[in-house]
Amino acid sequence: MGLHTADAIVLRRYPFRETSVTLSCLTDRFGKLKGLVKGLYAQPNRYRSAMEPFTINRIVFYDTRMSQLHLISQCDLLSPLTGLQCDVETMRVASFCVELIDAVVPLEEPQPATYQLLKQALERLALASEDAAGTRLHFTVRLLRLAGFQPQLDECTGCGATIRASGYWSARQGGLLCPSCLHEDPMVEPASSEMLSALAALAESAQPLRLDGPLAARLSQRLDEFLRWRLDRPLKTLTR
Ligand SMILES: [Zn+2]
Repeated sequence: MGLHTADAIVLRRYPFRETSVTLSCLTDRFGKLKGLVKGLYAQPNRYRSAMEPFTINRIVFYDTRMSQLHLISQCDLLSPLTGLQCDVETMRVASFCVELIDAVVPLEEPQPATYQLLKQALERLALASEDAAGTRLHFTVRLLRLAGFQPQLDECTGCGATIRASGYWSARQGGLLCPSCLHEDPMVEPASSEMLSALAALAESAQPLRLDGPLAARLSQRLDEFLRWRLDRPLKTLTR
């Protein structure tokens, strides 16, 4: 049994019995974890954080190795990110980021780059002055890359032929189709070289990029369709 300290962003939180909570969080050193905080409501002073979703905390937890539910013995609030609650659109994007993390990141695999990506996206959104749609687009492309879940853009998803400058976007196939494989998906749409270079640039960039408005909107729409087809369960934050 080990005792560990980590910084943790709370993804979801559920009541457990009368005074306790279980939660899932993304940590800087241990990846995504499930935790139990006993007596959080009974002894609020003992814990200096209420472990609200979207907050950044420093936690101490016991790794029991018997279960994936770890006992969190201490939690201190590092950053409440209160700016996220300033408007509905910001909160909607923050909820999407957290839900997508929960959907594509496996439990207990250290992923420091993914933690930094989520932390920076939430901090940027909390500043309100930032473009929420641009943050959402960059977050999506970058997270899919880090999680190994990105659309297939270099080879045709039908026949495996190399795709050079442009192709046809198929959300259902999870990437591009070449002209000979258009029968695979009646819903294909042309994917311009401009769109493909923007996707490649976003996947490599540490921060959002300034893209032409219509291009950014088209890309976001394509990626949302991709997520609708490719995730095991639908994201609540994608239904509009
Ligand atoms: Zn093909």
